Amino acid sequence: MFCEKCGSLMSPVGDKYICGTCGHEVSKKSAGKTEKIVNKGNGKEVIMIKEEKSAEPLDSDAVCPKCHHSGAYYLLKQTRSADEPETKFYTCESCGYRWREY
Ligand SMILES: [Zn+2]
Ligand SMILES: [Zn+2]
Repeated sequence: MFCEKCGSLMSPVGDKYICGTCGHEVSKKSAGKTEKIVNKGNGKEVIMIKEEKSAEPLDSDAVCPKCHHSGAYYLLKQTRSADEPETKFYTCESCGYRWREY
C-alpha cells in the first residue's frame, strides 16, 4: 500500500492506512476497490481504473453452476410481455460466470 500523493509506504492504523510522510489517509474499505493497471508495453503509459461493481445486489444463496461458489450478483429484467415472469440474471461473485433463472 503506497501513498497516492507522495508515493511513500503507508502503514495500517486501525481501519485505515496513514502515510508517514504527508499524513494522507485511506480507509481500508475504499482501498482495493479501485484497481489501477499500468501498461508501459509500447512506450505509452495507459492507466485503467477498474471500478468494482457495487450497484448489483448480492444473492448469497445462488450457487454458481460453474465453480459452485455460493454468492452471485443478480439483476432482474422484465421481458417484453408483462404476463411473463421477470428473468433473474446472475453473475458469479467468484469467477464472473453469468447465467439466468426464470
Ligand atoms: Zn504521502
Ligand atoms: Zn463461479
